[in-house]
Amino acid sequence: MQNKIVLENMTVDELKEFFVNNGEKSFRALQYFQAIHKNRIFNPDKMTNFSNDLRKKLDEYNDIKNCSIIKRIDSKLDNTKKYLIELSDGNIVETVFMEYKTHTSICLSTQIGCKMGCKFCASTKKSFIRNLQPYEMCAQIYLVENDLGIRINNMVLMGIGEPLDNYDNVTRFIDLITDKEGQDMSIRNITLSTCGLVDKIIKLADENIGINITISLHNPFDNERNQLMPIGNKYSIEEILDACDYYFDKTKRRIGFEYTVIENVNDSKKYMDKLVDLLKNRNCLLNLITLNPIEEFNQKSPDRNKMMEFMNYMNKNNVNTTIRRKQGIDIEGACGQLRINNMTKRGVK
Ligand code: SAH
Repeated sequence: MQNKIVLENMTVDELKEFFVNNGEKSFRALQYFQAIHKNRIFNPDKMTNFSNDLRKKLDEYNDIKNCSIIKRIDSKLDNTKKYLIELSDGNIVETVFMEYKTHTSICLSTQIGCKMGCKFCASTKKSFIRNLQPYEMCAQIYLVENDLGIRINNMVLMGIGEPLDNYDNVTRFIDLITDKEGQDMSIRNITLSTCGLVDKIIKLADENIGINITISLHNPFDNERNQLMPIGNKYSIEEILDACDYYFDKTKRRIGFEYTVIENVNDSKKYMDKLVDLLKNRNCLLNLITLNPIEEFNQKSPDRNKMMEFMNYMNKNNVNTTIRRKQGIDIEGACGQLRINNMTKRGVK
């Protein structure tokens, strides 16, 4: 299935080649691209500007028509909505729509499961199934937009999966989603979150794609971070920070850092001071996340006072710091839990 030709993964130029090789006029390529990425007509059957024969042929290479929303859960507290989206092979991904004062945003999954093994993260608990293809990331946005009748122009790659572990598909997806003939999303409105795959951060910098990146730090001491995040055994914090400096030099995009605060694990003054040490001279933003407890990780989330104290201390010491707003906490369950619970119900292990 991974090797099947899917037209929705292709750029306009690649589509031109496909159409010409199949005896069609090359202008059909743009029509197909716009049908999918702009007009959201997923099923070739409904592409009435194509002949019946062409529609039949296109149908063989079209998979996006098989992606669908199977469940939506609405928060009663804010306008957050969680979606479960079924892909053409029956796998399920989780996508979250969020509304802010100034804009709307969507949190996308980039893989089915995850290989990274972070101890506190639900996405990784049922291990890794496969990478998402570019069109499957597009589909998450398009289906939610169709469902809500709006356009979404801001996204974070912070759902299930490690986006830099699916580098080629993710960067191709970014190409597609920023294409003027399609969704035309601004590169500035795209943020990718990574646990710190240094070689890929450098590659991203060299390719100067210009998206925002944010690093999941979670602990400022290598020997403790390793315990929470196995990737720490491969890349040290110093190597990650060097890669961030390189990224900043190349792109001039301010780097984000995420820090999930875990009670009595990484929330004392020792951690704050070390973080100040690491981040104070960097052009960055630190985002504190309150641990969302999951069954497999037997730790507690800190209370609001602790989070405020942490944030204030960092700001006082010249590290720009915010606390991530808790979106849709009534529907939350940590990221990835909804998918796992649904798989279990459906008898998928
Ligand atoms: N693989 C990417 C995206 C992961 S999800 C990454 O590692 O950055 C986005 C953020 O949520 C990451 O910072 C991740 O570490 C954090 N996260 C995962 N599970 C969490 C939980 N149970 N509570 C709080 N934050 C969590």
